[in-house]
Amino acid sequence: MATAASCKSSRFSGTVVCRSPCWRGQRQHGGRNRFSFPRPRKSRLSSGAAAGISKLQIHGARTGWTTCRTGPAIATQFRPGSRNSAPRSCRRLGPRSGRPPRSTCGNIDALRAKANTGPICGPLSGRSGGTGPVPVLIIGGGLAGLTAAWQLHRAGIDFLLVEARDRLGGRILTAGAGGLPAADGFDLGPSWFWPGMHPGMDRLVAELGLAAFAQAGEGALLFQRAGRPAPERYPMMQQEPASMRLAGGTGAIIAALAARLPADRIRLGTRIARITHGQAGIVAHLADWPAPIAASHVICALPPRLLAAIALDPAPKAATLDLWRGTPTWMAPHAKMFALYDRPFWRDAGLSGAAHSQTGPLVEMHDATTASGKAALFGFVGVPAPHRVQAGRDAVVAASVAQLGQLFGPQALTPLATLYHDWAADPLTATALDQAAGEHPAGGQRDWSGAIWRDRLTLAGSETAVQTPGYLAGAIEAGERAAAKLIRQHANQRSAKQ
Ligand SMILES: Cc1cc2nc3c(=O)[nH]c(=O)nc-3n(C[C@H](O)[C@H](O)[C@H](O)COP(=O)(O)OP(=O)(O)OC[C@H]3O[C@@H](n4cnc5c(N)ncnc54)[C@H](O)[C@@H]3O)c2cc1C
Repeated sequence: MATAASCKSSRFSGTVVCRSPCWRGQRQHGGRNRFSFPRPRKSRLSSGAAAGISKLQIHGARTGWTTCRTGPAIATQFRPGSRNSAPRSCRRLGPRSGRPPRSTCGNIDALRAKANTGPICGPLSGRSGGTGPVPVLIIGGGLAGLTAAWQLHRAGIDFLLVEARDRLGGRILTAGAGGLPAADGFDLGPSWFWPGMHPGMDRLVAELGLAAFAQAGEGALLFQRAGRPAPERYPMMQQEPASMRLAGGTGAIIAALAARLPADRIRLGTRIARITHGQAGIVAHLADWPAPIAASHVICALPPRLLAAIALDPAPKAATLDLWRGTPTWMAPHAKMFALYDRPFWRDAGLSGAAHSQTGPLVEMHDATTASGKAALFGFVGVPAPHRVQAGRDAVVAASVAQLGQLFGPQALTPLATLYHDWAADPLTATALDQAAGEHPAGGQRDWSGAIWRDRLTLAGSETAVQTPGYLAGAIEAGERAAAKLIRQHANQRSAKQ
């Protein structure tokens, strides 16, 4: 018997590879998993589970993934809902330079309307649009950017947050059955946090008044060996700490933060392509808009690899660029697939919904049923990113549904809907460097900005966190750290003037 808690060595690289993204975090941060598992036979390079994907090899078959994450449901805990303001109407950017008007509203407005929160769209502000520099420009409207914005706002420091997508959240994407962002839906990006190990998340969830519940895990775990579609059944063992989810989905944390920020300080659909640094401060140039944004300081709340793609003048030193490019964006190489059902039928057969497979295309599956009872199974796709693109979404989804049928029975073959998001194919998350499964960002203290930009530019993406890089907690840690630095600077400037 081999313990599943010890990840298996890669046959190719000789390094320890743990394909279970969530488990990996727990392993690194000291989580305990008391689970033992029969050692699988060495798998041959395996083919996909169904037609259309037959030439694809799953990550696990190529590098030796391991099954190591299990856990029964712990007590479900619901806390009172968040404070929400009444919805306001959506404004549009006025036509400039003869261009058609552009809405700053994204799908997040629909999300927030459902959540009874106001829109987060706003017009171009005079302060940011030309009359004077904004004190802090935040690039990136994911959890890190919004955390930084909230801290600055609470300290009374003006900011402008720009986000390239037409929605907030970045890697956090909670979608409904139709695939659009929803106030109560399925997490196509992150699903879990681990109380105690990620105190930043615990604190923010409590502060925002969000409800959390334990990942469902009652029942048996299935294991599908290479070349043997019929699954083996094992008891689930307790995982400590339990993986926790947010009621409504992780999008709830984004909606709650956005609701606390002034709508006119957030601009969606605004991609920064170039940043120049002169005597007077920073000038950020947009990818498709002539008017630049002047700022005294810029917080780059995005993965360092994406920052490396923004043209900086003057150029950072080679060592700084190497650090940015060499920092993997956590989970960027991965894809998630969901199958939605009218009820969690697998529970009738005593199954937890958790499964691990050496056959693929899904390598790690879980019950994704929402706190409100919308039933679903989800899985991480184990097919490498370039092969997923080659096969196409439909083939990957069809093969995944076929595999769910092998594991959970014929009822799994007819989902009400399927959802699929390939993060490696999303250029606002992944770069060419993220197409191969990557390592976890290293964390620790780093000189992220380099000497040339140190006084004007601060990195704040989750990957730059010291303690919990790559995680939701890392985004909070990095966003708070960046805001704290600027709050200190502003306080020092104020006292120097007095
Ligand atoms: C599939 C998946 C599963 C995951 N599971 C977990 C989990 O279970 N638990 C956990 O803790 N973490 C998990 N993570 C990681 C977690 O999602 C991230 O740590 C966190 O969301 C990062 O937030 P961020 O704000 O630092 O970066 P991002 O969310 O990447 O936000 C960066 C923002 O910058 C924007 N942007 C990029 N370039 C520009 C530009 N030029 N101009 C303007 N805006 C720009 C992007 O559109 C994006 O909105 C998962 C991630 C993925 C993809």
